[in-house]
Amino acid sequence: MKNKSLVVITGASSGIGEALAKTFSAAGYPLLLLARRVEKIVSLYLPNTLCEAVDVRDLAQFRSALKKAEQEFGEVDCLINNAGVMLLGDAQTQHPSELQTMLDINVVGMMNGIHCVLEGMIKRRHGTVINVSSIAGRKTFTVHAGYCASKFAVHALSESIRADVAKHNVRVSIIAPGVVETELLSHTTSEVIKHHYEDWKSTMSDILEPNDIAEAALFLYAQPQKVCVREMVITSTSQET
Ligand code: NDP
Repeated sequence: MKNKSLVVITGASSGIGEALAKTFSAAGYPLLLLARRVEKIVSLYLPNTLCEAVDVRDLAQFRSALKKAEQEFGEVDCLINNAGVMLLGDAQTQHPSELQTMLDINVVGMMNGIHCVLEGMIKRRHGTVINVSSIAGRKTFTVHAGYCASKFAVHALSESIRADVAKHNVRVSIIAPGVVETELLSHTTSEVIKHHYEDWKSTMSDILEPNDIAEAALFLYAQPQKVCVREMVITSTSQET
């Protein structure tokens, strides 16, 4: 039986990324797992896995981790751009540097990964890029302006790149989750906004867990190369907006 190809997952140290790592590992894929808190990914003790401390904003770090992984496991066939931050805020009080951080990590970081893998995928006429966006990349929410801007950008980039590489038999897909129980909210600096968000979450009876998103990603990747699931918007049934 042919060995499975290398899958790269960014932001694998918690939440959805950690679930993606466990799910793809259980399905037999060799992995390159990236995050800044490398000790957290090392402590997952997954087989056939290289864990590297990479800040997705650093193209050189990303490239060198990928090179190392490809030497060990062969060429990458799937990149899951999952790393991201959500710094909620309103325009009067939120420091513009928070928008900069979201654009750098959620958008430029994603592009760094794509830039590293695309040339090889095009040459091989095989490969999949899965970008984890958000329902906030399809519609706006209050105090989400900066985050929505970054995730709308993820949608725009993904759709544009998908069309560019279609002729090379390379797939680009978007997964856009609603609320999932993770650390994501913890980096928002406004305690009032965090409080309101928690109140909003409490209106939902059954919040998604990271594994719900990981299973969807595996389904999407497991389709034959000729099948491109362009976009999956996944929310809890109990999420109204
Ligand atoms: P978490 O905060 O649990 O995970 C975020 C991950 O991103 C961590 O592993 C973190 O690792 C990594 N990360 C953040 N910044 C960087 C960076 N500069 N370089 C490398 N890795 C980085 O949140 P989620 O699991 O919820 O988030 C994963 C993705 O899902 C994000 O893109 C988020 O926008 C998206 N999403 C989440 C939703 C939710 O409700 N939870 C809803 C919709 C979308 P480390 O800090 O170790 O570097």
